[in-house]
Amino acid sequence: MPESLTRVLVVEDDPAYRQLHSELLRSAGYIVEVAEDGQAGLERVLASRPDVVLTDWVMPKMDGVTLCRLIKGNEELRSTYVIILSTRGETVAKVTGLDFGADEYLVKPIDPNELQARVRSGLRLRRALTELAAKNELLERLALTDPLTGLANRRAFDESLTAEILRSFRQCQPLSLLYLDLDRFKEVNDRHGHAVGDEILSGFADLLRRHGRRIDLAARIGGEEFAVLLPHTGRTHALLVAERIRKALESVPLGRTHPVATTVSIGAALFRGKSEEDGPAFVKEADSALYRAKAEGRNRVVMLEPDASEAVPPAGA
Ligand code: GH3
Ligand code: MG
Ligand code: MG
Ligand code: MG
Repeated sequence: MPESLTRVLVVEDDPAYRQLHSELLRSAGYIVEVAEDGQAGLERVLASRPDVVLTDWVMPKMDGVTLCRLIKGNEELRSTYVIILSTRGETVAKVTGLDFGADEYLVKPIDPNELQARVRSGLRLRRALTELAAKNELLERLALTDPLTGLANRRAFDESLTAEILRSFRQCQPLSLLYLDLDRFKEVNDRHGHAVGDEILSGFADLLRRHGRRIDLAARIGGEEFAVLLPHTGRTHALLVAERIRKALESVPLGRTHPVATTVSIGAALFRGKSEEDGPAFVKEADSALYRAKAEGRNRVVMLEPDASEAVPPAGA
């Protein structure tokens, strides 16, 4: 970020220091705002999100360490670089200021060159941390995404499964799961080549996206195996969604360069567990239903029969 776009807030109740420090920083090319006490400083921080806050310690209304603590305790403001600039030069004051989360503690009066150099060094650090956070976010996203289809991968699916089970308990809503496996996909690869196979996998992912609601989670959990988590969805609707996907694939050949007729077998399950630890049994039920769909001839949707107890609707239902 060029210095001309960098915002620095000077929080200082002493008019002479306020003017001295703000002019010094303005002359270094920063956009400088001022506040006369901690309370006004916090309001400025919230309103204009400065990159650096240079704050005095002892001030009316709210002191500098409190301001610092509030900035550092706020998720969105935390990356602000906070320098406490105080006349209190004793070690215990420095330790307290730093322990309250200040990034730097300087003692007044300070040499103008040093003040400018400290702000520059703080900005360098802040920039590096911002870049690191962006890279971490990208890595995190990549770690949860299947590169071929852009769908969630197995890891993301496992994480969402637990979260969705907990949510379904919290909201007293049904949760369903589809397990999908493309039929005779090995033959598709053998006949048309792996590249065409890849195009079909991508095309099928698009089809799943088109059929999903925003709250559904479609994932590629293996080579030609997919899963769709359907929150707020009971048996009837889960079967309907599955059947819609099956039909859509059957009626439109996939593959961009070389369209190939493909079908899919789908196992569906309704979550009937008691806790998030029943996730694996839920997955197993969908997988068993899928196995049955394959055994019964493929290109079909199967949902295993619910327990007899659940087949009888409650009185009055
Ligand atoms: P079934 O109907 O029983 O599911 O038969 P199938 O041939 O689909 O099942 P099988 O498990 O024998 O073969 C799966 C094939 O999926 C084998 C492999 O070549 C193919 N496959 C897995 N991952 C990929 C991939 O990333 N790209 C491509 N093109 N093919 C893949
Ligand atoms: Mg003061
Ligand atoms: Mg398979
Ligand atoms: Mg298959």
